[in-house]
Amino acid sequence: MTTKDGVEGYGAGPAMGRERAGLGELLGLYLLGEDATDIDLIQQRLREMAYVGWRNYWVAPAFWDIKGKLAGKPVYALLGGKPCTVKLYASTGEVKKPAARIREAEARYAEGFRTIKLRVHDFDESVDIEQVTETAKAIGDKMKIGVDANQAWRVTAIGDAPLWDLERAKRFADACAEVGVAWIEEPLPMDGYEDLTALTKYSKVPIAGGELHTGAFPELRMMIERKCYDIFQPDAVFTGGIDQTFAITKLCREHGLKYSPHNLDKRNRVRG
Ligand SMILES: [Mg+2]
Repeated sequence: MTTKDGVEGYGAGPAMGRERAGLGELLGLYLLGEDATDIDLIQQRLREMAYVGWRNYWVAPAFWDIKGKLAGKPVYALLGGKPCTVKLYASTGEVKKPAARIREAEARYAEGFRTIKLRVHDFDESVDIEQVTETAKAIGDKMKIGVDANQAWRVTAIGDAPLWDLERAKRFADACAEVGVAWIEEPLPMDGYEDLTALTKYSKVPIAGGELHTGAFPELRMMIERKCYDIFQPDAVFTGGIDQTFAITKLCREHGLKYSPHNLDKRNRVRG
């Protein structure tokens, strides 16, 4: 986004190809002429755009960027935050056999990571369970282990994957509990609200999710109230902008739930 005075603001969003080409004509209809620093107004325009099927909340951070540049402050300062140090975990991005996964976990441990996240995408659930169980037995005393099933973000355009249901998710949660897995991420479809609540209530391992609820505040508020997850992880870009995500963190705190931000890395590749 560029203001008429030439101040540039940057956002980033998901795309599978060149589907965003030409999007400027739509954004311009809603946003040209508005005050770029009026985030509430920008959010209202994005809501109006979403009513006709175009969820483009990912542009909202660009307006925070503009607002910060005009104020001469970083966005965290505009939000009342302070610089801090956060612990990161090593997120694996592909499926591997147990032996290769264990070697990878050892390598991440040597680099200083103390938590690793595995992927489980096999059509045979015993293969998924074996990977997690074997890795936990090998390195679980040194590292925390999380597992991502990516059922809320099944990128079948890249590769087909099994579609989990509540019963499979429960069996997997039981297996993870036996080896002390720290969290299970997205074990069910993102809109399976009743099943998510049931699984979160059933599972001894905390259930996490919420990366891609675009334009999320009404939906995620409902999911928080229904306790669909123990750990909510909306993304400040995908989810509806920095201010919507900030409001969600407050709601999680009020409901005694945890929050962990999903994010894009510096090359704008998803690390979720
Ligand atoms: Mg994820």
